[in-house]
Amino acid sequence: MRDKKDFHKLSKLSGDYLKYETSKVLTWCGNCGNYGIQNALKRALVLEGYKKKDLLMCFDIGCNGNGSDKIEGYTLHGLHGRVLPVASGCALANPKMKVIASAGDGGTFSEGINHLVHAIRNDYPILFIHHNNENYGLTVGQASSLTRCGAIMNGTPKEVTIDPINSLDFVLSLNPSFVARSFSGEIGHVTEMFRLALKHKGFAYVEILQSCPTYNKMTPDIWYTKRIKMIEDKKDYDKSDIWQARRIVRDMENEIWLGLLYENKKKSNFFETYPFRKGVKTALVEEVRHKDISQFMQ
Ligand code: SF4
Repeated sequence: MRDKKDFHKLSKLSGDYLKYETSKVLTWCGNCGNYGIQNALKRALVLEGYKKKDLLMCFDIGCNGNGSDKIEGYTLHGLHGRVLPVASGCALANPKMKVIASAGDGGTFSEGINHLVHAIRNDYPILFIHHNNENYGLTVGQASSLTRCGAIMNGTPKEVTIDPINSLDFVLSLNPSFVARSFSGEIGHVTEMFRLALKHKGFAYVEILQSCPTYNKMTPDIWYTKRIKMIEDKKDYDKSDIWQARRIVRDMENEIWLGLLYENKKKSNFFETYPFRKGVKTALVEEVRHKDISQFMQ
């Protein structure tokens, strides 16, 4: 952990951390980045004082989704590419719960890219964790829309021949309110990004560059460690300047900047722009009425 103060705090809160642990057997491959990401999420939740009853964690299909029963609490494991509409609906129905959604690069930028666009536009109040390992790991290593040109994958044995989407440039083009990036090998930094994102009132997009040692041979851990740089070390960087953010994320080969890259604190989230709920004190889940429908069942 980068911040020693947090490390001491966390050691005192080990009892709270253990409440998120399950007895389920971990099924990820050895050295998979998912271990670090899930560990960081548990650390961040404990350090921010969240209790299991205050949280809903929604998982897409994929290797990251197999983490849904490896963390204790309310979890929802849905259809491929559809985690964002489900998570957004839950957050709108019950604003008292903190909703966290996670998905891989396939679910986010192929099957579910339409949902990503509208979740950002509407600034739904959720933390979204994008596990970017640049391939479909669960289905044994096919190219996703984020796999690099030239990569040899199981579905494209002669190599990928088209350029990938630049995920952060795409997200930034949609006028988001919070964009951060981290790397699965830097657990302390991932924890820090999750903690900042948990405090954000709108849609917090956190991308984790994640190693997939089994199928993605093009960008192993060492590839990232040679290239990653911390944004706080960049002179005169202004995280409220979206054009500066878009310029630095263009480079996906040489300098890969990690940290809170863009934040717009003035943007209104969905609740603040939705006129029909102004002044309503109850949440939608509290307004559900039970109707007797037995007469229609005969
Ligand atoms: Fe992790 Fe890749 Fe194995 Fe999936 S296939 S568990 S992403 S190493």
